[in-house]
Amino acid sequence: MFIVMRRKTAGMVFAGIFFFGISLGLYNFALHPNMYNWEKQGILIREVKTDQKVIALTFDDGPDPVNTRALLQVLEKHEAQATFFVLGKLAEKYPDLVKEMTEAGHEIGNHSYSHADFNGKSDDFIRKEIKKTSAIIKDITGQNPKFFRPPGGYLSHAMVDLTKEEDLTIGYWTWEQDSKDWRNGTSGEQIAKHILNHLQSGQIVVLHDGASNGMQTVKAMDILIPQLKKSGYKCVSLSRLLELENHE
Ligand SMILES: [Zn+2]
Repeated sequence: MFIVMRRKTAGMVFAGIFFFGISLGLYNFALHPNMYNWEKQGILIREVKTDQKVIALTFDDGPDPVNTRALLQVLEKHEAQATFFVLGKLAEKYPDLVKEMTEAGHEIGNHSYSHADFNGKSDDFIRKEIKKTSAIIKDITGQNPKFFRPPGGYLSHAMVDLTKEEDLTIGYWTWEQDSKDWRNGTSGEQIAKHILNHLQSGQIVVLHDGASNGMQTVKAMDILIPQLKKSGYKCVSLSRLLELENHE
């Protein structure tokens, strides 16, 4: 009886590990099987190895006239630098907000023009989405963006080639630092807690000032940044994070 139970238990444990492995494998596979190669080649970044206590906060899908304005104030209050992955169509609509970001020392990244699902779209469509947005950013800030974050994290060989043509690095994010802050009902406290619980130097944190839950993201930053400072962490732009990478 004892042996039977143990065997059963062991079987359950193995089944658990097996299914956990499958779900992890599928999760990564769904993103793109070549992602790790692109990362090795420096075409895509998800985190950096650094001895310094630094992280990059990144905000997607804006600018938003309410959330982004409030966020800029919170970042200023706590003297934190961030990277904004803006949508071309919204940057076009709210150029003053993009200008404010640049003047405050934040970095602007390209997050496509319309946030369309790139899956099944032609190269021409994707190229236009990327090019148009870079041109809008250049027009407002005087500088070409260095990073592109594909909408929904979509990756394909063709899209990666297009970003290379445009001299853009794919600014992905660290898995552990996706708090799903955009989900309605997620509180600022929960978002801040998620980030603090998974904190490691060199991470890229994905957040959304452009989502309808954006004010909770703002609230989260007001909680998080002072805590980070207390632990000796500094919030830097994506470009700065790359500069602080260890080079052995
Ligand atoms: Zn997005």
